Amino acid sequence: MNEHDIDYSKLNLKVGLEIHQQLDTHKLFCDCESKLNEKKGIVFLRRLRPTQSEMGEIDRAAVAEAQKKLCFYYQTADTCLVEADEEPPHAANDEAIDITLEASFMSNAKIVDEVHFMRKVVIDGSNTAGFQRTALVALDGFIEVNGKKIGISTICLEEDAARKIEEKKGEVVYRLDRLGIPLIEIATLPQIRSPNEAKEVAEYIGSLLRATKKVKRGIGTIREDVNISIARGARVEIKGVQELKMIPKYIEEEVARQLGLIDVKNELERRGIKNVKTRVMDISSVLKNTRSAIIKNILSKTGRKVIGIRLVGFEALLGSKFCALPKAKKEKEKKSPVKRRLGAEFAQYAKTIGIEGIIHSDEMPAYGITIEEIKNIKSALDIEEGDAFVIAAGEEEMVRNALNAVIERAKQAIYCVPEETRDAQPDGTTTYSRPLPGKERMYPETDIKPIRIDQKRIEKIKLGLPELPERKMKRMVETYKLNEQQAEQLIDENLDIIFEQIVNKYGMAAVISRTLLNTLPELKNEGIDVNKISVDVLDNVFSQLHQKKFAKEAVPELLFYIAKHDADVYKAVKALKIEKLSSEEAERIIDAILKNKKELIKDKGMSALSPLMGIAMKELRGKIDGKIINEILKEKLKKKLS
Ligand SMILES: [Zn+2]
Repeated sequence: MNEHDIDYSKLNLKVGLEIHQQLDTHKLFCDCESKLNEKKGIVFLRRLRPTQSEMGEIDRAAVAEAQKKLCFYYQTADTCLVEADEEPPHAANDEAIDITLEASFMSNAKIVDEVHFMRKVVIDGSNTAGFQRTALVALDGFIEVNGKKIGISTICLEEDAARKIEEKKGEVVYRLDRLGIPLIEIATLPQIRSPNEAKEVAEYIGSLLRATKKVKRGIGTIREDVNISIARGARVEIKGVQELKMIPKYIEEEVARQLGLIDVKNELERRGIKNVKTRVMDISSVLKNTRSAIIKNILSKTGRKVIGIRLVGFEALLGSKFCALPKAKKEKEKKSPVKRRLGAEFAQYAKTIGIEGIIHSDEMPAYGITIEEIKNIKSALDIEEGDAFVIAAGEEEMVRNALNAVIERAKQAIYCVPEETRDAQPDGTTTYSRPLPGKERMYPETDIKPIRIDQKRIEKIKLGLPELPERKMKRMVETYKLNEQQAEQLIDENLDIIFEQIVNKYGMAAVISRTLLNTLPELKNEGIDVNKISVDVLDNVFSQLHQKKFAKEAVPELLFYIAKHDADVYKAVKALKIEKLSSEEAERIIDAILKNKKELIKDKGMSALSPLMGIAMKELRGKIDGKIINEILKEKLKKKLS
């Protein structure tokens, strides 16, 4: 069976998306520009203190994170006190709220009367305040994608997190340039039923947001979280998908992973394993003379230990690929086998505590550990037939914590697929990040006053709403006789407004769309600074073309000259000598050509037309329409021959 043959409806696949899109305006709670910078700037350090929510409970995800004992370094190129959390946030950026309202109307959502910012506990250090500010702006909307209604549960405005620059053992380095960039978050209901549909919905929401013309473009400016569940599996949230086209792959991989874990659970049930019986032992003495380079290296440092655990009944479940996994294609197998083993799941949990990895019995013999040593490990841990062991080496307390995390994970294997937040990896797989956060994560942001959304503001935004992307495309195709691809490209590349502005003045949709979509990129490829070709320049060029001052064939050459020499249209036309000729002038030039080519005409008769046309075009290109040249030439040639 191939992964693509999976019947997702039978599995009751439910997918929901959370789209995060950066808005093209200054930061949400200060006046700083929303711009990434390459400077490191000054650096300051903060240690994580697990934030206690006002509900009085410590978030379970925060607890998991606190066990990692991390130091956070923040690089900042400016001295903004809001970003460093030395000063309370300023009033929320009004433009960002307006853009969010716009997107809310476009997705048929109900706007709240008052926007209240809340604090969402952040446990990975990505926000200097220890929480992210977020506000619900609208809810209960819907979009229509390929004729199917997909519910939009919430639309929020929030601040982007700091940018992770580097992650080392026990420390993470962030840059504050991204912190506070306004983000719109659109969450769908879990009504998506297949991997491909998820991609289509994400694309639709992306195009809807771009239609506002007020969102950032480029890599990293739009990010998706994908919620996935299947029957008998669990809800898993995959964070940080940046490439829309990868969405189906992440879903396929996650479904395969959950199916595998369901198989593991069934196998444990068959073996009668109802709980995890374990034994945790310091086995450093067993390995004190080992030749295993990894272990020897660790044990050579003071205070380092090798700790082992016994997992009763887990033999062969850690190392083998999940039992009844659908057979992946060869090429896929190469990319993602490791991460689909239970041992890899265990290792990912251990790594969140800060250790490098684990070694387990199903991969033995390996890492230079001898058969003799394996025997001794087994005897130290009381391993019996049907059991597995996991060992890890390093600083004792950390290793014990890591192995406890493994035991917790092993317990979950008996019950179900654990609910998790997982990080998207570039190859389409995911790795465990933390437990799915509980509901207690939000509490009110008291530094920001609630913002009333009055009727006047709503009316104003409603008046300025952009067309929905699909409708706009249809209209552009019909009105300007473009093909769908041209219309789509103009909209997608944000050229639609310039296009319509110029076409509505001068007509000539075909040549204007060709100029925007083909000529400008070609000039850019030739190393021309196309920024010099402003909207005003384009307007001028087409105004002159409209007045028939030169032929449309001259447009590329003209733009090239303008950008290269920083010239205006009139100068460029003069310099290039492309001023349009009258037909009389053209006739004179053609007469001269015919006179020069008497021999050719004598030899070839009417077939001389084509070479003569080539010669004429060389002299007249851009100065007069090619069709007219052809007519004059044909006429005169006929006359001559008769
Ligand atoms: Zn700032």
